[in-house]
Amino acid sequence: MIVIALTGGIGSGKSEAARQFANIGVPVVDLDVIAHELTAIGEPILLDIARIFGNDFLNKDGSLNRTKFREHVFNNPAERLKLEALIHPAIHARALKQLADNNHNSRAPYQILVIPLLFENNRYEDIAQKVLVIDCDESHQITRAMARNQLTESEVKAIMNAQVTRATRLSLADEVITNNGSLTELRENITLIHKKFIKTCIVSK
Ligand code: ADP
Repeated sequence: MIVIALTGGIGSGKSEAARQFANIGVPVVDLDVIAHELTAIGEPILLDIARIFGNDFLNKDGSLNRTKFREHVFNNPAERLKLEALIHPAIHARALKQLADNNHNSRAPYQILVIPLLFENNRYEDIAQKVLVIDCDESHQITRAMARNQLTESEVKAIMNAQVTRATRLSLADEVITNNGSLTELRENITLIHKKFIKTCIVSK
């Protein structure tokens, strides 16, 4: 089964696009979802985080204080590297397992792998055969990410500055969906590109 990487900057609409692929029956593996699962209560990685970074990053109920921890690692490159060394191999292993399970269980001709930082991280280069970028104007990225995550404009801009530029992302895309319109338009565009992917996947099988 062909694997298509879905990527885009913060707030570009990756999660909405992935939801629409799933709605129309395409298997989806999402690295952000996996990262979330791996840091849930009861997961060994959460215990490692508490041991390495301190119990201060846990809420009273033992769950991860995601806002506090995200700010901490975002503002401390050395700490971020420590977290990446801990969590990236686990995310990679779980993603490979989910892709293999889909290959086994689904008859769809392709599956989607959502990789928010595809071009910042070459671990997935050999896994995906095509790259679909969800793109939108930076002004939309900023307002959507601010509303979704209760972030200030400067916080969203700082995250955008830590990601590859929009021009780089677009230059590396095989396909681009522009998400400057309504959610309905985005969903329609996903359905259209799905038809195209089905045709090309069947031809290249
Ligand atoms: P990403 O996963 O790329 O960070 P999301 O898919 O979560 O982005 O989108 C960011 C926010 O913007 C979400 O709240 C989402 O519902 C909203 N959003 C995405 N696309 C649109 C759109 N075309 N119109 C209105 N809101 C949108």
